[in-house]
Amino acid sequence: MGKVGAPQPPVRAAPLVDSHCHVVFADFQEDLDLVAQRWREQGVCALVHACVTPGEIPAIRQLADRFPELRYAVGLHPLEAGRWHETMPDLFLKACRRDERVVAVGELGLDLYKATNVEQQVNVLEAQLDVAWEVDLPVIIHCRDAAMVLRDILVARRQSGRPVRGVMHCWAGTPQEMDWFLELGLIISFSGIVTFKNAKAVHACAQQVPEDRYMVETDCPFLAPTPHRGQRNEPAFVAHVAEKMAALRHCSVARVRHGSSQAAARLFGLQPLVGEPPTVAEQFLPPPAPATSTPHTL
Ligand SMILES: [Zn+2]
Repeated sequence: MGKVGAPQPPVRAAPLVDSHCHVVFADFQEDLDLVAQRWREQGVCALVHACVTPGEIPAIRQLADRFPELRYAVGLHPLEAGRWHETMPDLFLKACRRDERVVAVGELGLDLYKATNVEQQVNVLEAQLDVAWEVDLPVIIHCRDAAMVLRDILVARRQSGRPVRGVMHCWAGTPQEMDWFLELGLIISFSGIVTFKNAKAVHACAQQVPEDRYMVETDCPFLAPTPHRGQRNEPAFVAHVAEKMAALRHCSVARVRHGSSQAAARLFGLQPLVGEPPTVAEQFLPPPAPATSTPHTL
């Protein structure tokens, strides 16, 4: 028994997952150890590293060796679709199978904001969805100004008996578009955009998304959240995204950290890093009733 009035051990912040980062970029070359120290101080217990081109894979794998909380995806970004090569599916399949720390395929998707090569992007997307299906991994989807085209592709996949599971990363769409992708079974991931004053549609999405269907991310080095807007983003700043989600949802930050981390853990299989704390509901369950005789039936 502890002494009455003895100080309680400090309550650790609920774990937090940065579900999308790019710390392989040169932006982090100089000070990544300090960056990692800061994400650990913020309670970031797991990070999912996205992949822009397959050329990054060896360097990302080395980062996973260096930081045990790092998991990663392999894939080709839609704005790099011009680099697609017929050998890539095989390369991705091998990368997925050789390292358990590969937890997703991506980032893949469509970007019709910065490019117009729709047909090429769709072909590259379809080929990577095939890879993900074959290795039974979720996908990390980048979608910009292409929600309807993407929805048609995902609906067709579902109708053919090969539904896509994954995340709509860096969400910047409307509530209606969000509903399309939720209905398709996808998770919505909120980035620093949700902290921007003028992102009204994203604020509405953050308020409406079901508790077990969203994650948080940085997409660093891009899109630093307020109050760091305009600076280099880094994984520690995902805490600001969680805080803004809590403010918008009128709930505690702990609840956002817990819910978003568990969603990430389920999608990417991160349970060993995130842990399996009791759900909020479980914490408040009444004790089990004493066993009674045969339950009465009507
Ligand atoms: Zn990204």
